[in-house]
Amino acid sequence: MGLKARMMRLMMESIGKRQYQKLVEREAQFAELENVLLSEKNSPERFEIVTESLEYPFEKTKLFYSVKTMRIMPSNFRNIKKSITSIDQNPSVPQAKIPDHLLQEFHEYAKSLGVSSIGYSKLPRKLIFKNKAVLHDNCIVLSMEMNKEKIEKAPSSETANMIMRTYDDLGKASNQLTAYLRGQGFSAQAGHPLGGLVLYPPLAELAGIGYHGIHGLIITPEHGPRVRLTAIYTNIENLPFTEKNPHEWIGFFCAKCGRCARKCPGIAFFDEPASHKNGFITHIRNEFCFPVFLEYHGCTVCIKECPFSRVDYNKLKKHFNTQTVDPDLI
Ligand code: SF4
Ligand code: SF4
Repeated sequence: MGLKARMMRLMMESIGKRQYQKLVEREAQFAELENVLLSEKNSPERFEIVTESLEYPFEKTKLFYSVKTMRIMPSNFRNIKKSITSIDQNPSVPQAKIPDHLLQEFHEYAKSLGVSSIGYSKLPRKLIFKNKAVLHDNCIVLSMEMNKEKIEKAPSSETANMIMRTYDDLGKASNQLTAYLRGQGFSAQAGHPLGGLVLYPPLAELAGIGYHGIHGLIITPEHGPRVRLTAIYTNIENLPFTEKNPHEWIGFFCAKCGRCARKCPGIAFFDEPASHKNGFITHIRNEFCFPVFLEYHGCTVCIKECPFSRVDYNKLKKHFNTQTVDPDLI
């Protein structure tokens, strides 16, 4: 780490960590509002990437390693702050039904902001992170592609930099789209992709955006797991909620593949998946993954190695349907 990066890192540790902690405290105040949806007893804990990274031994962590990556963080913090404070701008008597043409306009606006896919789902409370709260249970889930060439370079500071930039772009898009909905008379709350109030992969699955792989990430038909996710929570009642997920076959593909587990540098995958009290199933031992994640630029090897990051979704589906998964594809 060069001198400039060390100085920035020290600033991140002293100022960035405090700023982030303040944001977490403000976020916690949502739970004190009336008529909000609260987490449940068995809701998952949020992994605090920023805090964990800045508390990890200085010489070891490489998540916030390059000056470029650290420079993006203030913008991410501003987006998170905006997503929290802007709920005051919700209309006092919001409309609850969106006409088709406005939903179409919303889609077009989202695409123009770089959003890759949009899905709709009701929010089960068990997906809200412990001690967090959201205003509404109608969710608009958004994904944004991460650059393929940079993912191929994982683990590297270039990859980490691109991921932080994607967080930033998606965080901005989430705030802009939320402002758009408010401008049309609806109540809305922007989620942020970095942290967030809700466990995004299962929510994205309910919204039909894709299906989870054993690496715990959503696999989308457009970009495989090379996406970041966020959600907007709104009072709009007539959204086209997804009823059936067409990507369930991916679960069977994973059972034949297992490439992410074989390539994982942290040897973090369980031989047999673990079931949790709240019904979640995980394939990854967090205590094995996190050190590698923090020490090697956010790792990302499981995304890079997933065939869906590299090979066309329909091609993989065709091979899967023939009952033989071509080893060259995986
Ligand atoms: S991020 Fe790295 S260490 Fe963690 S599960 Fe994926 S490949 Fe393994
Ligand atoms: S690498 Fe293979 S097993 Fe792992 S998530 Fe991707 S498809 Fe599933």
